[in-house]
Amino acid sequence: MDLELRELYQQVILDHNKSPRNFRVMDNPTQEADGYNPLCGDTLHIYLHVVADIIKDVSFQGSGCAISKASASLMTSMIKGKTVEEVEKLFGNFHALVTGKLGDDPDLSELGKLGVFAGVQEFPVRVKCASLAWHTMKSALKKETTKVTTE
Ligand code: ZN
Repeated sequence: MDLELRELYQQVILDHNKSPRNFRVMDNPTQEADGYNPLCGDTLHIYLHVVADIIKDVSFQGSGCAISKASASLMTSMIKGKTVEEVEKLFGNFHALVTGKLGDDPDLSELGKLGVFAGVQEFPVRVKCASLAWHTMKSALKKETTKVTTE
C-alpha cells in the first residue's frame, strides 16, 4: 500500500474515532449485544432494530481504542438499511480483508470505506480491535445472550 493511501486511511479512522457515527443509546432495539476485547480493553454495546430482515437502525456505545471505535462507527454507517443477508456477506468480506485473506492488493470495490482497515492485517492485536464491532453485531443479530469476547 502506498504512503498516500495509508495516510488517507489513517485520517478516516481518526475522524470516525473523534466523531463516531451512530454513537448513542437506542430506545427500542429489537436486539442488542455486548462485546469485549480483553487484549486491548475495548468494550462495545451494539443496538439493532431489525424489521423483516432489514437493519432499520443500528447504534453503539462503549469505549476503546481508535480502531475499535472507528470500526464500530463505520460499520453502523454501512449496514443501516441493508438486509441481514447483505450484512453477513459484507462481514465475510471485511473479515477476509483484516485477516489478510484478500492478499496484498485486495479488491476493495465491495468493501467501500471499510477498505481503510486494510492496514490492520499486519497487526494481529488490531485485527481483534477492528472486528469486535462486527462479531458483537452478529451476536446481536442471532440474539445470543452471552457476552462476546475476541478470545
Ligand atoms: Zn483496541
